[in-house]
Amino acid sequence: VIVDFLALLRRCRAERRAVAAFSCYDVETAAGVLRAAAGRPVVLLMPAPAILHPGGDLLAAALRAVAEQAASPVSLQLDHAHGLEEIRAACDCGVGAVMADGSHLSRDANVELVIAARSIAARRGVAVEAALGRLAGDEETALEVGVDADGLTDPAEVRRFVAEAQPDCVAVAIGNVHGVYRDRPRVDLARLRSIAARTERPLALHGGSGLQACALRAAVGAGIAKVNFNTELRQAYVAATRDALPAAGPLALHRAQTAAVATVAAAKFAAVLGPSTGLHPVEAGPLTWTASV
Ligand SMILES: [Zn+2]
Repeated sequence: VIVDFLALLRRCRAERRAVAAFSCYDVETAAGVLRAAAGRPVVLLMPAPAILHPGGDLLAAALRAVAEQAASPVSLQLDHAHGLEEIRAACDCGVGAVMADGSHLSRDANVELVIAARSIAARRGVAVEAALGRLAGDEETALEVGVDADGLTDPAEVRRFVAEAQPDCVAVAIGNVHGVYRDRPRVDLARLRSIAARTERPLALHGGSGLQACALRAAVGAGIAKVNFNTELRQAYVAATRDALPAAGPLALHRAQTAAVATVAAAKFAAVLGPSTGLHPVEAGPLTWTASV
């Protein structure tokens, strides 16, 4: 079932747990993610380049259909939009949220992008995630990268940024990177706590691949309400595809891709939520959601 993105994240933030979010470039990936979700809430991320790709609207419609039919509470989000064209396209396709990523712009241009994105998104009831701070690496490739110390989110900027841009959710840079961690990752929890103390908005942690379970859970306890995963999922998908070729036909290939994604995603759910019940370890109450939209 499709659920409201903002309600899901607000509840996660309030209850100190997080929803796992996974980049889906096709239906096979989404099927693997939902198999691993096993009824738990999840965000399906549609990468921004995919929505502008020929057939991007069809992929969005397919992901939406997958979400509607899922046993899990699901929200669909456009990830890392750098311009308004892909935000408009995604809103037309019925996503529940978009990320307006102005992290590579000047501070003021970042605020302007988020405000413009909100004006498009608000008409459709679509939530907007902004980025404060800049991550090293590229969300579409699995290159080894080190942390960009100059890009870390400055807690002193949080209040003003949120007041001016009014994002529904804020992605932070606290030692995380996109791609493969070159050095042993170190999440700056003191910085995260300082950010979380300055805003009630749900916080998102990108670059979840490569972070250890203990680091992820500590980040969730300190205010992270959504953790994005892409790199490891994509690596598993590509490796499964390579291993299944050349003998496999299309259906066997799809089965191998879905199974590989499900294995990685299951490990990520366990890392973010704890292994047994799917609940964050500090939580005891059941996760129940009613469908929206
Ligand atoms: Zn990201």
